[in-house]
Amino acid sequence: MGEMGFNAGGGVINWFPGHMAAATRAIRQRLKVADFVIEVRDARIPLSSANADLQPQLSGKRRVIALNKKDLANPNIMHRWTHYFDTCKQDCVPISAHSKGSVKKLLDLVEYKLKEVISREPTLLVMVVGVPNVGKSALINSIHQIALSRFPAQEKMKRATVGPLPGVTQDIAGYKIAHQPSIYVLDTPGVLVPSIPDIETGLKLALAGSVKDSVVGEERIAQYLLAVLNTRGTPFHWKHLNNRRMEGIRYESEEKNEYNLKNLKPKRMNPPNKSDVVYIEDLVMEVQRALYLSLTEFNGNIEDEGDLEGLIDQQFGALQKALKIPHKASEARLMVSKKFLTLFRTGKLGPFILDDVPHVEHRS
Ligand code: GDP
Repeated sequence: MGEMGFNAGGGVINWFPGHMAAATRAIRQRLKVADFVIEVRDARIPLSSANADLQPQLSGKRRVIALNKKDLANPNIMHRWTHYFDTCKQDCVPISAHSKGSVKKLLDLVEYKLKEVISREPTLLVMVVGVPNVGKSALINSIHQIALSRFPAQEKMKRATVGPLPGVTQDIAGYKIAHQPSIYVLDTPGVLVPSIPDIETGLKLALAGSVKDSVVGEERIAQYLLAVLNTRGTPFHWKHLNNRRMEGIRYESEEKNEYNLKNLKPKRMNPPNKSDVVYIEDLVMEVQRALYLSLTEFNGNIEDEGDLEGLIDQQFGALQKALKIPHKASEARLMVSKKFLTLFRTGKLGPFILDDVPHVEHRS
């Protein structure tokens, strides 16, 4: 699928600004003093959201991989991923950073893993790392809340310095999550540079929001998403959704990302209320119906690149209608792409996992 005309030029994409290389060096230094690493990845792309350069150093550390945003990932496939990491002898916990319950489970595992081996160290440091937008800040925020409930006295020493580091000028601060030994989670995450060995990985990272849309372009990302949906036959599952109104769509009031559902509404309208929720539900149904119909009526070969591209072109037109984008809008395709991507990114098209589980040899 990465073929579909996306591969022009080929090779590794060099897109990140120079300061990120300096940031990587700084993280290497900080990693040295961390006793434990929580590597946050996006549950929708458990492999593509890893940083390749730091893997040797990370896997040499005590580490757990937190597969965050599990609420956006297909639960039926998630267990295959946890099984995969099990087989690789790598601890891994699917979490949702906004849910205290799942973050507590993660912290319990961290504590268990640290106490298992180190009981005499007076202070242990846990560092949270991950590529952009995987939810590191959201996770640290939840950890902070949990830390406060476990050790209320912390309120006064929120930004206490837990130790100066060689090679790092600023003091570090952490939230205490356990006693004897004292375990602190550093309050500043380590931002890793995404690795983009090929265009398909770049597209997946863009879909998950870890690389900016402008790096690959919204239209291309939307085109890729349509290719994935069509080849997996996902729209066929939307046949029965057509007449059902989905209940319980809620808005998160303080969403800071740019994929807010509010962006689907024309600008002049007020913040979402009950009727807006209905409006979005209808929009989702229209989109699903449009994709279902176009795929059912398609009589080409989905495996054929040209046929698939033809189908996708036609779907852009169908989506434009479904998303109520005026016919003459000069940048209609771009607008279609942006709105369609927002629906996907907010989970409205359903949970998804984009990476494929690698095949692991089993000895019988
Ligand atoms: P960071 O760049 O890794 O620090 O990522 P942020 O913590 O800023 O999160 C990026 C976006 O993802 C924000 O809009 C968060 O609200 C959202 N987010 C974080 N964790 C979750 C999660 O578990 N589920 C969902 N649906 N969104 C999340």
